[in-house]
Amino acid sequence: MSKTYLESANTLPIYDECDLLVVGGGAAGHSAAVAAARAGVEKVILMERYGYFGGDVTGDYVLMVPALSWKNYSMVRGLQEEWFTRLDKNAPGSYISPSLEDIGKTAPILVDRWSLVHGCTTMGPGEKSLVRAPYYEPNQLKLEMDAMVQELPNIKCLLHCWGTKPIMDGNAVKGVIFESKEGRKAIMAKIVIDATGDGDIYAQAGAPFYSKSGIPGRDDQSALVWRMGGVDYELFARWRQKNPDEAKSFAAELEKITGFKTMFFPTDRNDVVWFNNWLSGMNCINLEHLRQTEFSVRNSIRATIKFCREAMPQAMRNAYLYDIAPQFGARCSRRLEGEYVMSRLDFAVNREFEDVIAWHSTVMSGVPIEIPYRCIVPKNVENLLAPGRHVSADPHAIAALQLVPQCVGTGQAAGVASAIALKEGTTVRNVNIKRVQKILCQEQDVPLPRQDNTDPKLVADLVACNYGRDTEMSRRIRKEAGLDW
Ligand SMILES: Cc1cc2nc3c(=O)[nH]c(=O)nc-3n(C[C@H](O)[C@H](O)[C@H](O)COP(=O)(O)OP(=O)(O)OC[C@H]3O[C@@H](n4cnc5c(N)ncnc54)[C@H](O)[C@@H]3O)c2cc1C
Repeated sequence: MSKTYLESANTLPIYDECDLLVVGGGAAGHSAAVAAARAGVEKVILMERYGYFGGDVTGDYVLMVPALSWKNYSMVRGLQEEWFTRLDKNAPGSYISPSLEDIGKTAPILVDRWSLVHGCTTMGPGEKSLVRAPYYEPNQLKLEMDAMVQELPNIKCLLHCWGTKPIMDGNAVKGVIFESKEGRKAIMAKIVIDATGDGDIYAQAGAPFYSKSGIPGRDDQSALVWRMGGVDYELFARWRQKNPDEAKSFAAELEKITGFKTMFFPTDRNDVVWFNNWLSGMNCINLEHLRQTEFSVRNSIRATIKFCREAMPQAMRNAYLYDIAPQFGARCSRRLEGEYVMSRLDFAVNREFEDVIAWHSTVMSGVPIEIPYRCIVPKNVENLLAPGRHVSADPHAIAALQLVPQCVGTGQAAGVASAIALKEGTTVRNVNIKRVQKILCQEQDVPLPRQDNTDPKLVADLVACNYGRDTEMSRRIRKEAGLDW
């Protein structure tokens, strides 16, 4: 495309002014806005291009949140666990998971029941125990996310507004231009959080970022999730347990039919499954790849259902198309090259960070790992933070950092950091991180290491297992990196 068109300069109306503008209302952006408002920011604007909040977790039907516990500790709390305590109260039965009381239990009857649900029991060698990993109804979460922001009078929600361009004063962000049915307008803000997942704002603000790596894995995959009804998931899962070889052939046949990696997983209902898929070589900000993903998945749905009905007559003979996620499944596109770039070595050596803002059990390392504040702070640009699936990470580490709990965790921390910076008259780059950690830990229910209220039993258990540094994965990564300890 060598032809160009020179857009003329334009005077734009200023739609509003605020203390904090969050662009993108997915898991990260919604959490940032709620955390900031609760931490006392006077005026937060939360801008979302679609008509609801949640991004991947509601619009793309991701509907599974992994690894919220480690052993019998509820590790990932804060806003992430609050989604489920609120659903317990307001929409009972809208998710399934081992309960908080049952995490870490090894009773065979419990392990047998939960081993049918991917991620709800420990993986790897050793005795199996229960892990908190909720599978929820995405539309119920959508309603809950609405309620969470509407409860806070200091959050103003802007739906159907697409943030298109940062407003810069030198290297400082001063606001964002957006497009909507009302036309092109501007919002001025003291701090902006880019939670678009694709670095839409930081890329144009001049922050360095990485483009697609091309390395096979989550960094390179797109999706369009859909659900199939009329099935008996438990019957299927029991059959799979007893017939692992036939189950492998079934899965291979599915992939032959679709032409890409795909598999179904349970949902909160036994008669509905969700089809996740992994189309490789895709960039979630490339128009051609977006089109290809949408068409390839939809083109495969009828044949997939027919195959399931015929191959699994007992569990699936009445299978039908339940629904298709309204939103494209974006995994990764741009990755920030922030003040710290997390790598898989950080997982393998379980590095301690002075500026830790989240302490999460991950499916990658199996033990809680620390995420530093610096991986949401862009280089070269002021007044801007970037939590969520576009954080600063290498193409391997991003596979763990773009999971829902990590997006909620970095989002919540970004919101609290903005609140402290505004309150103390400093910048988000120079914010008093000790104060941020204290508010997260003591007022927002986020467990962090080396704090006054850090659970000493948890620390003793981590020391006893050498912080997970002796796992096969850790050893392999350290060997690849030339570290021989
Ligand atoms: C198919 C699939 C399966 C997955 N499975 C799992 C899983 O099982 N478990 C797990 O933990 N994670 C899973 N993930 C990853 C996880 O769901 C996402 O990485 C995470 O939810 C991203 O949250 P986010 O807020 O950073 O980004 P997003 O959810 O992408 O949110 C970004 C929000 O910003 C809005 N937005 C974007 N650009 C603009 C703009 N310019 N202006 C205004 N608004 C904008 C979007 O509409 C969206 O609401 C999966 C992802 C996919 C795609």
